[in-house]
Amino acid sequence: MDTEPRSNFLRTQIQSDLDAGVVERIVTRFPPEPNGFLHIGHAKSITVNFGLAEQYGGACNLRFDDTNPEKESQVFIDAIQADVKWLGYQWSGNVRFASNYFEQFYDWALHLIDEGKAYVCDLSAEEAREYRGSLTKPGKNSPYRDREISENRALFTAMKAGEFEDGSRVLRAKIDMASPNMNLRDPTLYRIRRVAHHQTGDDWVIYPTYDFAHGQEDAIEGISHSICTLEFEDHKPLYDWFIDNLPVPSRPRQYEFARLNVNYTVTSKRKLKLLVDSGVVSGWDDPRMPTIAGMRRRGYTPTALRHFCEEVGTSRSDGVVDVAMLESAVRNDLNATAPRAMAVLNPLALELTNLEKPELLLVPNHPGDETKGKREVALGREIWIDREDFRQEANKKFKRLVLGKRVRLRGGYVIEAERCDTDDEGQVTKVYASIVPQTLGEDPDDGVKAKGVIHWVDAATGCRAEIRSYDRLFNVEDPSRADRMDDVINPSSLVVSEAVLERALESAAPEMRFQFEREGYFVADRYDHAREKPVFNKVIGLRDTWTGND
Ligand code: ATP
Ligand code: MG
Repeated sequence: MDTEPRSNFLRTQIQSDLDAGVVERIVTRFPPEPNGFLHIGHAKSITVNFGLAEQYGGACNLRFDDTNPEKESQVFIDAIQADVKWLGYQWSGNVRFASNYFEQFYDWALHLIDEGKAYVCDLSAEEAREYRGSLTKPGKNSPYRDREISENRALFTAMKAGEFEDGSRVLRAKIDMASPNMNLRDPTLYRIRRVAHHQTGDDWVIYPTYDFAHGQEDAIEGISHSICTLEFEDHKPLYDWFIDNLPVPSRPRQYEFARLNVNYTVTSKRKLKLLVDSGVVSGWDDPRMPTIAGMRRRGYTPTALRHFCEEVGTSRSDGVVDVAMLESAVRNDLNATAPRAMAVLNPLALELTNLEKPELLLVPNHPGDETKGKREVALGREIWIDREDFRQEANKKFKRLVLGKRVRLRGGYVIEAERCDTDDEGQVTKVYASIVPQTLGEDPDDGVKAKGVIHWVDAATGCRAEIRSYDRLFNVEDPSRADRMDDVINPSSLVVSEAVLERALESAAPEMRFQFEREGYFVADRYDHAREKPVFNKVIGLRDTWTGND
């Protein structure tokens, strides 16, 4: 399922920068904030950044943008690294952290002070908001704007030394309070916050803002193309202002592309956190979550995700992608790669009345790929078929087993249903059928063909398994517009049931994916599946039942 790289504005830009000798080597970075698990939107950003580095023989860094310690944690740092690797990428050198550069940022803040380009401001948050003006009204200069350089130095040093209360003062750049771009109205560079940091502990009581940190991180790491999403477009003049006014070791440039939005899905860490905190899902990696870890546990493949991210393209215009495209990428990959197996999800007993002794059948593992080989499947007198595959009587459209009619057992014989037992409510409890002789791989001699093929599992050797059938988490296209998330949750997004599986599936390793014939794609659960207690998650059905497309 390789995808030819399509041309897009980033590839065009990079190619022309290389051709013109503006840069010698492409260096990109993926800069997550470790405040949640990564989602499908981040997968897009990962494939863009790592993909460009790969395509142009450059390098891509993994850098945690950890300037906001309250919301960050090691759990997220670990999960993010696992996600990037699982997608098939390796970052260049060690994992990096914005916090690695705190000392350098501090020195650069002093540099701006010494140049008369930064000042300590004592306005309260509310006052600062007032002074800032609005999109239609220019801001006003802070009364602290003209402090002497020496005073600013002394105050900023004291801020660092912990001499002032949280929130009592900030360091600001001195740019232009009348700028039509609000980001240039003397933006904040440092805040006082007494919060322990996961990397630097209690070393710091002042933390740089995202804006003061990001471009400088890029410059330190020699990033050539700093790729971000469109909401940072208005920050670009500020990004460039810092690079122009600081003695940075390199000159990165920022390029923005449109975020990936997917319908029936939320792609905001804040909203995903709500789902986790409210217990709607079992955790960040619940198989219904659009997180990379969730999709992994659901059985989606890295190939499918990469393929999808390439298919949706990279542009500067916002849009919403149909989740069916993602599901179809998963289905296409699994159709080609997943071995076939048999599982009966809604078992009904069937006795083969003329089978004298158990047999071993040799069944291909994949209809289109002989290299996947064959496996032995036991066939005994008692087997399970799916309740949906039998009717006492039916019209011609029903291509499965009917009393007095024939059907083929997948990989086995043609059988003919003779009679059935029913309980007091008329529910069928058992079917009796005979094997039509000499029909292994052959049509019956008498010319009466089987009407269809059904899957089955040998009762003596089959094993019981828990099946978790997952479906979309939301039943509306744009769940983020709902007032209450509860109103738009699909009530049947998880159905747990018991099934019987052919013996071979018992020894499936966690995360192995299969097509259960005629049922869909299933994966052995990453955490809960064990030989003693098999657990399979439904990845996706064979067809798109939401829109009716394959
Ligand atoms: P969220 O809004 O979900 O909290 P974020 O942008 O705050 O996401 P970061 O950890 O800051 O999350 O993101 C790391 C990188 O991933 C950034 O470069 C960001 O632009 C990119 N990114 C985040 N969401 C998307 C998306 N939906 N599509 C493409 N790129 C994204
Ligand atoms: Mg962010």
